[in-house]
Amino acid sequence: MKILFVYPKFRKYLETNPNILKAIGAPVYAEYKAMPSLGIPILTALTPDEHELHFADGNLEDIPYDEDFDLVAINSFTPQAKYAYEVADKFRARGIPVILGGIFPSNYREDCSKHADAVFVGEAELGWHEVLADAQRGQLKPIYNAGCNFDVEKYVIPDRRLFKHKKGYDWRPLLLQNFRGCQFNCAYCAISATNGKKMRMRPIDNIMQEIEENMDLDGIYIGDDQFLLPDPEIEKHSLEFFSRLKELNYQKSILLSASPLLNKNPKLLQLIRDCGVNTLYFVFGWDPVAIRALSYNDPHDAEESIKAVQDAGFNIFASIGVGQDADTPEIFPRTIDFLERNQINHAEFWIQTPFPGTPAWRKYKKTGRILTEDFDMYNGAHVVYQPKKMSVQELEDGFIYLWQEFFTRFNLPPEEVLQFYSMSSDFKSKVGIQDQNDEQKEDQGKQELAI
Ligand code: SF4
Repeated sequence: MKILFVYPKFRKYLETNPNILKAIGAPVYAEYKAMPSLGIPILTALTPDEHELHFADGNLEDIPYDEDFDLVAINSFTPQAKYAYEVADKFRARGIPVILGGIFPSNYREDCSKHADAVFVGEAELGWHEVLADAQRGQLKPIYNAGCNFDVEKYVIPDRRLFKHKKGYDWRPLLLQNFRGCQFNCAYCAISATNGKKMRMRPIDNIMQEIEENMDLDGIYIGDDQFLLPDPEIEKHSLEFFSRLKELNYQKSILLSASPLLNKNPKLLQLIRDCGVNTLYFVFGWDPVAIRALSYNDPHDAEESIKAVQDAGFNIFASIGVGQDADTPEIFPRTIDFLERNQINHAEFWIQTPFPGTPAWRKYKKTGRILTEDFDMYNGAHVVYQPKKMSVQELEDGFIYLWQEFFTRFNLPPEEVLQFYSMSSDFKSKVGIQDQNDEQKEDQGKQELAI
């Protein structure tokens, strides 16, 4: 079969809310383009060689609507929903069968069914071969409910050949998945709904093989945020993984997420530092320690976690979500004071977003608090639900206040924050940000910046 894989366009955080850029005071360069997430490379790795594979990234290029295909497979997460539907409708109008899969279709299947011949729910490894066989016979089923108990011992290394050498990506680190599923089921996260509540850890040999096969990419972006959660099994996995990474002597940048619900084991933190991880992307938004600190003004445990990582020599890049049910307008100045008190001078802010499938989505749907199902707006830059203890306007204003006040209080040039996202030198030069070893400073205020 001739199969087209589509990664739909989506509107970026800054594209949809220009008030953020006004608050920072930076001109916008909103064409930041990253390589696709893991859905398509997992599918292509699972597709036998007898098929002819094609790929189109709507963020980068036109979709080949006039060409003939035997199957169009569209992978999407929530902010891509509108464009996924648009692409699906156009191919179906020409009689070309379309299957929708990924996080969004897995959690919003009835609506997706109106735009596709088939919807794939769950983990690709558990049903993609059946889809291919059915498509070949011209007998796609409306729903493939594959479930989410794939044995990750059999994890097939994602195959990025369709887009790895494509021109036009500004940001091209190796997006690495270590875990499937998560027992924590945080209110605004769709991982537990999509991949189940049992955490499955990939074999370390298999992860290392993927890293070694992709040494030509620009660093590693570890997509999972579970590595530093305080859990004995995770700790064992993390110690083993980072020991192997240290042995590899990996020289490029590594981006790792953590949160205030932190495993403070100094041996593990030091090992991660030894691997060359200098900054932790520290998310305040879903774990109980973070919520206690900012929503309930009880920061003791969070401050202990911050001290542990700062003592280990990490910088913290705080990513702070506001709009929990406990939040009142007090949270905004409190958050700025918190950052200042803890000497965190790199941060970004977002509004909590109840993606379909998450506990928050179910709760807000049940109580009639979802204000819009325009999924273009589900990117952290908009209020899409009725907050509990403040008005929509207060939450929107407080969110903009955070951006503005943070940059004013810390007197930071905006490129300091934007630099965090730019692992690639190509990307930096494109947006006018110089590498650290470049002494020459230019008037970057005149240059365009990206996020
Ligand atoms: S936010 Fe992180 S810890 Fe919480 S459910 Fe999602 S993956 Fe698990």
